[in-house]
Amino acid sequence: MTDQYTFQNPVTQYAPIDTEQPELAEPGLETELTPRADLGQDTYRGTGRLTGRRALITGGDSGIGGATAIAFAREGADVAISYLPEEEPDAQRIVALIEEAGRTAVALPGDISSPTAARALVDAAVDGLGGLDILVNNAGKQVSIDKLEDLTDEQFDQTFKTNVYALFWITKAALPHLPEGSSIINTSSIQAYSPSETLVDYATTKASINTISKALAQQLAPRGIRVNVVAPGPVWTPLQPSKGQPIEKVQTFGSDTPLGRAGQPAELAPAYVFLASQESSYVVGETLNVNGGMPSP
Ligand code: NAD
Ligand code: MG
Repeated sequence: MTDQYTFQNPVTQYAPIDTEQPELAEPGLETELTPRADLGQDTYRGTGRLTGRRALITGGDSGIGGATAIAFAREGADVAISYLPEEEPDAQRIVALIEEAGRTAVALPGDISSPTAARALVDAAVDGLGGLDILVNNAGKQVSIDKLEDLTDEQFDQTFKTNVYALFWITKAALPHLPEGSSIINTSSIQAYSPSETLVDYATTKASINTISKALAQQLAPRGIRVNVVAPGPVWTPLQPSKGQPIEKVQTFGSDTPLGRAGQPAELAPAYVFLASQESSYVVGETLNVNGGMPSP
C-alpha cells in the first residue's frame, strides 16, 4: 500500500493520472473521481503534534482540506469543516474519520462567498469547538475559461469572493478568538507564479493570497500568531474535473511536473500539520510549495 512513511521513489509512489474522467458539475464530489484520490485515510499516522488544538478548515470536506482534516484529527485536534451544502456526502465521510480518530468533528455547511455566512461560520466553529487556535483558509473556486470575452463579471466576482474576500472575512472574524500561539494557514497555488492562460481570475486570486499572507504575517507575528501559506501544484481533487481545467488536461493531470505525476491530497496534509504545529514556531510568512518540483520563487 502506498503510504507516507515507506522509503521509496516519489516518481513511482503514486501512479500518474491517466483516466477517462468525465467533466463534473461544480463543486465536484470525491466519489465522482476516477481513480479515487488518496486522502491518507488508510495510512496517516498521528504523533500527537496537535494535541488539544481546535481547527477550522474551509473546504474540509474533500481534497486537500479533507486530507488535512484527517491528519489534524489523528494528530489530536478537534476539527470543524466548512463546505457547500451540496457536498454533504463528502463532508459526512470526513466527519466520520475525525470521530474515528477520537476527536470532535463540527460540520458547517454554508456558502462563504457571502460575508454574513463567512462570519457566522467562525462563530459556529468557535461554539462547536469551544475555541479556535488553527485556521486553515483552503476553500477555493477555480473555473477555466478560454477567452477573456467569455469570463463573466459574475464569475470574476465569485472567484474573488470565494478565494480572497472570504479569507479576509473569516480571518478578521476569527482573530478575536485566536490565542497567542495560534496558526493561520492559507492555500495558494503554483498558479500564483505560473498562471495558466485559461485561469486569469483564479491565478490572480492566488497571487493575492500570497501577498495578503505576507502582509498579515508581519502584522500578527508580534501578537504571537503565525501566518503561513501552502502552495500546491497539481493535486488530484474534485476541483480539477469540475471545470477547473479543460477536461483533456485533467485526464493526464500533473504529467508536466518534474515528478511526472499529480500529487495526492495525502501528500499535502503533512505541510499543513507542520505549519499548524509548534514545531514550526520560527516559520512566519513562509510559502511552502508542494508541487512535484515545479520552479517557484
Ligand atoms: P476541493 O474541490 O476538494 O476543495 C475545494 C473546496 O472549496 C470544496 O470542497 C468546497 O467545499 C469549497 N468551496 C468552494 N466554494 C465555496 C463556497 N462558496 N463556500 C464554501 N466552500 C466553498 O479541491 P482542492 O483541490 O482540495 O482545493 C483546495 C484548495 O487547494 C483550493 O484553495 C485550491 O485553489 C487549492 N489548490 C488546488 C490545487 C489542485 O491541483 N487541486 C492546486 C493548487 C491549489
Ligand atoms: Mg468538496
